[in-house]
Amino acid sequence: MLPAEAWPPDAADEEQDQAEEKDRGDADRERERQLHGPDRNGVGRHALSIALGAGLAHPRLYTRRVTSDIETGDAIAAVIGRNRAERVEARVRNPRWKQAPLRIEMSECINCDTCIRHCPPQFGAIFNHEIDVIILPELCSGCGKCLPVCPVNCIYDDVAWDGSAEDWWQHPNGPEDPYV
Ligand code: SF4
Ligand code: SF4
Repeated sequence: MLPAEAWPPDAADEEQDQAEEKDRGDADRERERQLHGPDRNGVGRHALSIALGAGLAHPRLYTRRVTSDIETGDAIAAVIGRNRAERVEARVRNPRWKQAPLRIEMSECINCDTCIRHCPPQFGAIFNHEIDVIILPELCSGCGKCLPVCPVNCIYDDVAWDGSAEDWWQHPNGPEDPYV
């Protein structure tokens, strides 16, 4: 559990939170256009849209580490995941994010790194990892800004996302973190 001083957030946290919400709102509209537009991938888009529209969320929005300490969803939302530093520290996704995170299909990715440069730094979710490009779902708001810039359309919704692999966590706030 985060220390007590993590809540209430200070003014800077609130400001960043509001900026993220605005950024996400703008991107959500673009993402909706993408999801409901021409089917780029052939299958699955309609079912996915229904699932997202129904507000389905992955049950592992909160890590075991946090749910072991905090009982209710409201309490969780109150103390964690409000800025990137907290998400990295606690390895949790912001519980207020309604969109599923995205994932990169590694067998299709051409490693151009364009998506890395377009992920907003307040989320900072995409990294080079060995020969792959990866998205840490705990840091991905689902804003969709990486979608239109991918030249091979290999970024997909990850509704059934699981936690990031342990060795992926070396990247955020690491020496080669492109977002700091
Ligand atoms: S990985 Fe894509 S969808 Fe996720 S936060 Fe970054 S730009 Fe947004
Ligand atoms: S933009 Fe697409 S092809 Fe390029 S690194 Fe990102 S996921 Fe891979």
